[in-house]
Amino acid sequence: MTFENTLDFAQKMDKNDPLRSFREMFYFPTFMNKEVVYFTGNSLGLQPKTTEKIIKEELGAWAKYGVEGHFLAQRPWFSYHEFLTEKLAKIVGAKPIEVVVTHSLTTNLHLLMVSFYQPKGKRTKILCEAKAFPSDQYALESQVKFHGLDVNKNLIEVAPRPGEHLIREEDVLSKIKELGDELALVMIGGVNYYTGQLFDMEKITKAGHDVGANVGFDLAHAAGNVELKLNEWGVDFAAWCSYKYMNSSPGGVSGLFVHEKHAERKDLPRFAGWWGHDKETRFLMEPGFQPMKGAEGWQLSNAPVLGMAAHLASLEIFEEAGMDRISEKRDVLTAYLEFVIEDVSKRNKEKCTFEIITPKDKNKRGAQLSILAHGQGKALFDALTKQGVIADWREPNVIRVAPVPLYNSFEDCYRFGQCLEKSIQ
Ligand SMILES: *Cc1c(COP(=O)(O)O)cnc(C)c1O
Repeated sequence: MTFENTLDFAQKMDKNDPLRSFREMFYFPTFMNKEVVYFTGNSLGLQPKTTEKIIKEELGAWAKYGVEGHFLAQRPWFSYHEFLTEKLAKIVGAKPIEVVVTHSLTTNLHLLMVSFYQPKGKRTKILCEAKAFPSDQYALESQVKFHGLDVNKNLIEVAPRPGEHLIREEDVLSKIKELGDELALVMIGGVNYYTGQLFDMEKITKAGHDVGANVGFDLAHAAGNVELKLNEWGVDFAAWCSYKYMNSSPGGVSGLFVHEKHAERKDLPRFAGWWGHDKETRFLMEPGFQPMKGAEGWQLSNAPVLGMAAHLASLEIFEEAGMDRISEKRDVLTAYLEFVIEDVSKRNKEKCTFEIITPKDKNKRGAQLSILAHGQGKALFDALTKQGVIADWREPNVIRVAPVPLYNSFEDCYRFGQCLEKSIQ
């Protein structure tokens, strides 16, 4: 398709967009009485207009029934997470038994590593990507230390080659091979938060399994953004948050995945809590933890219903839109934004050049573009903000923008280009 950096072209694209009506389902922040260009759905997704209604229903049930709401509410709180499972499983390519909504993301990463990082003999190492999201770095380090091991020797990072911004997949695969029977776990962000690089999770999983390691992914930037086939790829475990591409409220509940091949394993070590105990006998309150089958066995606590209600509101929208339509639009919308940025860059060469460090290949990225603004950086970002663009600044020198297919438009991309051009001048 030939793109044009004009309002007319952008509006034509919007007119032909099968998902265009979804924009109306979300609240957009305003700036000087105008809707902002909101390109930070990769950090905090916008609020669906239905969220308030669903949360109010639970508040109403609480007012009406008190504790009896656990059983009498229209959606009984006792099994509230079950209302989310099937919808969420579709988004991540999993079977319902493999998915549960519970806790927060970093908590879930820890709980899953307790089970899937079991250093023994010479098999003690974890492979991760360099410059992983800080919370993941801290979680990984503390897991290694928890087993009394040396972080420097046991936490192995794959970095971009000198002078490059992206990690070469071949380097990940060859490192896995090289570590061989010393490798206990591969734990990587499915989409890197800084560069927007999407890794081939199927290949990485296979390579990890070939040397006898477990393989898990942090999908904070992947869930609701790119197509996932966690079951088919044979991934051992994964976790993600719901507040980025999945629009489920600030700090909202997380989801976790445990492959069905582990569903009945009672031998896996885990930190247990009553909500992971067999629900038929949970209220007998007897000693002796009996884990539920599948992902539900990793729950600790009863559901934070208000947060889950927000998640439900968003999952209903995803179900209606469908990941296949979302993906189709994502590729075109992201390519259009890329085109607009490159067009602005070309016409302003003397003043400023941008380098998009996110992969060009649509199979290697999701909705995010990371822009290195040589020579301008933070000043450029601040100028964009003053014009009503909500993007995201990451030290040392990257502006991240994410045109989210559910609610962003081609016109947003065009307007971003206009603001970018003005910000340079
Ligand atoms: C956003 C994000 C987190 C945040 O973790 P919380 O526990 O939800 O605060 C962790 N890891 C990655 C890769 C992220 O992108």
